[in-house]
Amino acid sequence: MTSIPLPTGDWPALDPGWVWLCGAGPGDPGLLTLHALNALQQADVIVYDALVDQRILDWAKPDATLEYAGKRGGKPSAKQRDISLRLVELAQSGKRVLRLKGGDPFVFGRGGEEGQTLVQNGVPIRIIPGISAGIGGLAYAGIPVTHRDVNQSVTFVTGHDQSGETPSSLNWQAISQGSQVLVIYMGMKHIAPIAAELLAAGRPASEPCAVVTNATTPEQQVLESTLGTLTDDLAASGLTPPAIICVGRSVLMRQTLDWMAMAKGEAPRNTDPLGRGRPAEAS
Ligand code: SAH
Repeated sequence: MTSIPLPTGDWPALDPGWVWLCGAGPGDPGLLTLHALNALQQADVIVYDALVDQRILDWAKPDATLEYAGKRGGKPSAKQRDISLRLVELAQSGKRVLRLKGGDPFVFGRGGEEGQTLVQNGVPIRIIPGISAGIGGLAYAGIPVTHRDVNQSVTFVTGHDQSGETPSSLNWQAISQGSQVLVIYMGMKHIAPIAAELLAAGRPASEPCAVVTNATTPEQQVLESTLGTLTDDLAASGLTPPAIICVGRSVLMRQTLDWMAMAKGEAPRNTDPLGRGRPAEAS
């Protein structure tokens, strides 16, 4: 374990009896915030999720207890209550508790629910945001979640509800028509019905899509497809979750913004992905 010095500054103290609900980002340890690092260096107990990278846990205090509270792939959410109550119990026993979650704790991360239960039980909390996979993960694939030539809005959608099914409360018609770019979390399992809903709502079969698995980690993979072929292409690819799915023309920007290709030695590809001649920037 390496101890990383924080920059000098007035960093908040994680006091006994408190729980800090903290985002660890999508994977790459370099995307951790300094507040998260400060928390890691103080916590007695770290309750962490499946998607938290081991290299980040290595920055905990040497004598910290690490507790795994992973939930993956639409398992019944009864366990969620147990996790929240475990956090209450740890705080009430006088521990400095860090609840470390992948991405951002408030983005499809149940951080709101856990925070509520803690507060209901009189446990004080602090929230430390993190880089969400739907923004940072796409950026690692060279996909800008907004681009002035593509979209003035973006919608973050979950492909699962509490029962593990495609959320029935979602109005796919409205989502399809209301937002040029969709970013789908937890969408792999139900991609067939989701794509069918989007097509039925009038989005073109030729619309560009990308699936980014294990984004920002050394295992990151990117599949480019179209809405009409996405389900088959995904099945043929053998890719497995976790994945972020992006639907919209911003995916085309990968052609020039795929910075990871450049990091691996490719020359910059000065193409014109949107066929506009020049970016909005130049006008
Ligand atoms: N709070 C998290 C999201 C938790 S829900 C955040 O803000 O990012 C879990 C889902 O997030 C996964 O099913 C997947 O859709 C997405 N996800 C999280 N980390 C990811 C990663 N490294 N690569 C791709 N998708 C990821």
